[in-house]
Amino acid sequence: MNALGPKQKAERHKIGHSACPHDCPSTCALEIDLQDGRIGRVRGAAGNSYTAGVICAKVARYAERANHPARLLKPLRRTGPKGSGQFAEISWDEALDRTADALLAAEARHGAETVWPYFYAGTMGLVQRDGINRLRHAKRYSGQHSTICVALARAGYIAATGHLSGPDPREMAKSDCVVIWGTNAVHTQVNVMTHAIRARKDRGAKLVVIDPYRNATAEQADLHLMLRPGSDGALACAVMHVLFKEGFADRDYMARYTDVPDALERHLQSRDPAWAAAITGLSEDEIVGFARLLGERKRHYIRLGYGFSRSRNGAVNMHAATCIASVTGAWQYEGGGAFHNNGAIFHWNKTLIEGTELRDPNVRELDQSRIGPVLVGEADALKHGPPVTALLIQNTNPMDVAPELAKVHRGFAREDLFTCVHEQFMTDTARMADIVLPATMFTEHDDIYQAGGQQHILLGPKLVEPPGETRENHYVICALAKRLGVQHEGFDLSAREIVERTLAASRYPDIARLETEHWHDCQPDFRRSHFLDGFFGHADGRFHFAPDWSAMGPDHQRLPRLPDHVDLIEAADATHPFRLVTAPARNFLNTSFTETPTSAGREAKPSVMLHPQDAAALGIADGALLRMGNRRGDLAIHARIFDGVQRGVVIVESLWPNAAFVEGIGINLLVGADPAPPNGGAAFHDTAVWLRPA
Ligand code: SF4
Repeated sequence: MNALGPKQKAERHKIGHSACPHDCPSTCALEIDLQDGRIGRVRGAAGNSYTAGVICAKVARYAERANHPARLLKPLRRTGPKGSGQFAEISWDEALDRTADALLAAEARHGAETVWPYFYAGTMGLVQRDGINRLRHAKRYSGQHSTICVALARAGYIAATGHLSGPDPREMAKSDCVVIWGTNAVHTQVNVMTHAIRARKDRGAKLVVIDPYRNATAEQADLHLMLRPGSDGALACAVMHVLFKEGFADRDYMARYTDVPDALERHLQSRDPAWAAAITGLSEDEIVGFARLLGERKRHYIRLGYGFSRSRNGAVNMHAATCIASVTGAWQYEGGGAFHNNGAIFHWNKTLIEGTELRDPNVRELDQSRIGPVLVGEADALKHGPPVTALLIQNTNPMDVAPELAKVHRGFAREDLFTCVHEQFMTDTARMADIVLPATMFTEHDDIYQAGGQQHILLGPKLVEPPGETRENHYVICALAKRLGVQHEGFDLSAREIVERTLAASRYPDIARLETEHWHDCQPDFRRSHFLDGFFGHADGRFHFAPDWSAMGPDHQRLPRLPDHVDLIEAADATHPFRLVTAPARNFLNTSFTETPTSAGREAKPSVMLHPQDAAALGIADGALLRMGNRRGDLAIHARIFDGVQRGVVIVESLWPNAAFVEGIGINLLVGADPAPPNGGAAFHDTAVWLRPA
């Protein structure tokens, strides 16, 4: 065979441009080696000002996932008992016909609301993720109240600022003090570190990390405040107490831009460092030292993460932490302010993608976090409506991910429940399905992405042919719509056409420009980003120290008028003396990447990190098997003795599939699904447990 010439080699080896589709606020701009119709190495785009050439290791080795021998390549029909793993290959037509017939039969028996299309963030592409809503609205199937991850943190931030946006995240590099609060950025959004470390290098900025354990981000910090889970509101209040007391409060700023600064100052008089030390487990010196650091470095950037969403008092804690930037007036400075997410800077017209004009507000919305109680038929979770007897699932794996896992598993095992799962791998959820459909990955279909932790929209075009018989989410939704007899323009267009038309309807650059430039920067100007001109997003234009919680959700009565510590958490007690945090592992992203040998190998096995003195008191040795449990259940897990937590706090980095655990059920067995105020959300880091030797 003749050797290839340079031109032929260049033609076979190209670089494709895309965006990371995973559930991560960074939404990195990617450059992907393409060779012989397959993807190779993946790099961060150096030309993108937020990605800045850096991506996490798990996505850099994406080829391992895309070219994995265990990928689902053919539609399957269950032939054995649910969960047995016994399936037979069938054609796409048969799989779609069977699915449509089952959905129609369920609807005929119980009405359309018995069907629950269920999805989450396995891909963050707007067309492939959200298109399922078009089918939902067209058929009047049950809605989904999306509460996992976002509901609590967003409510707290918006209660304060009135708008889900903030200072340009790239400004972290111009800050004199970057506070990373409630997010392990090294594991979950590595680009935060890029900009924070730049500030340290260029300006001598301090890096503060606030987190219940000494994680990989905390290891890089100048100051790590290792507080008890769910005590962030107390820390924020005591910091503000010191800022007022020691003359660091910017009274001019507050008079101009905030609602009730005098009432806040009076309220905080009793929230001193001693009060907060007792709640947080921090020392008074640590609290005072942090407050002085902020007071002396006005240009501080408080990066608030999704950890706030994982505690029952998370909305109140997020609100309190955001208030600090208004007491110091940090919002006024470049490199200053607080930031959680940029969701509100984008102005999408999603009519074509989601069929929003078809949505009937009278159709019930079921809480995504409560899929367990929904599937076992709890009346309040079902909103006192019909049972869910048919599920259509894309982009999520609730058999591992959802809280109250015992109920989730019981629900999925119901013989009267039809389940269709469209997936890339045989996940624990796919294993319970009646029909499994093989799904494409992001380089195998067209889509458009919007970042949350930065400011770009990014094009993700199809770069390689899908393997086997895998098909995109959009195909499945359109093919089912035809069989179910519903019409909408979006069912007749290709994904690329939907991207084109959605860009035009949303007044964004067209697809040709994005194909050349790959992304579009949507950051509002400095004054708007810092809430300086139009002020904040509330009707009175002011930052709200005294939020209107009733505007944030129906369950608002339990929330305080001013920033505070609210004891809504699942507190430790004599029976359950430990507080469990299920933090994200570095090599997994939810349950994605648990299937790749390098990620699984680097994480080794599920383990619970506990303080050496707690281990000694219980007679537990490092590596020993122990039992951990509460009223929801108990499981066996290995101990990892670790002095980077307070006594009484235990950490399990996740999210492992059920089979990785000794008894075949995962960590969310112990986590509650009760909706947290004001608008729901599962508190994944807010669990009281007991521990004992196995
Ligand atoms: S850091 Fe986040 S967005 Fe970037 S490549 Fe990794 S998972 Fe994707």
